[in-house]
Amino acid sequence: MDELFESVSITGTMVWYYAVCPREAWLLSHQLTPDEDDENIRMGRRIHEDSYARGNHEVVLAGSKMDRVVRKGGKLVVYEVKKSSRHEASARLQLLFYLFQMHEAGLEASGELHYPEEKRVVRLELGDAELKEISAVVAEVRTLIARDLPPPAKRIPVCRQCAYAEFCWA
Ligand code: SF4
Repeated sequence: MDELFESVSITGTMVWYYAVCPREAWLLSHQLTPDEDDENIRMGRRIHEDSYARGNHEVVLAGSKMDRVVRKGGKLVVYEVKKSSRHEASARLQLLFYLFQMHEAGLEASGELHYPEEKRVVRLELGDAELKEISAVVAEVRTLIARDLPPPAKRIPVCRQCAYAEFCWA
């Protein structure tokens, strides 16, 4: 195992990438950044900015940037904002990871996935089953990023919108 990558912090974004395409997660964790001018990246930024134009509510914890953390009825709630629910399973794992990080920091919180364009909110709790699930995902991501080479490119529908497409398929 490469010692450098044993110490790399796993972030929520990395968990999201892992669930969409493990190769993307590996590229991101090895600082191979995608094309910043990519239309999907710019669109995601714009929706994020439009939805929270009244101020910067981001909270950074252990390398992860959470879109917003609020107190509701005496309980902490972590918000994650997405432009669409197309990758809801990945977004759910990303948010579970944030709840896991809060839990590790001694803060109990629930989560809300927000889809402003769909006017939809999905609520999440970190129960025993979810804790077990996200702990297993974290172990898998650690194993992945410790690899010397990325998994081979595998064509999936998301490749069409992926900022790494040129890198993988040119
Ligand atoms: S182009 Fe496809 S295979 Fe390559 S990183 Fe993106 S989703 Fe993964």
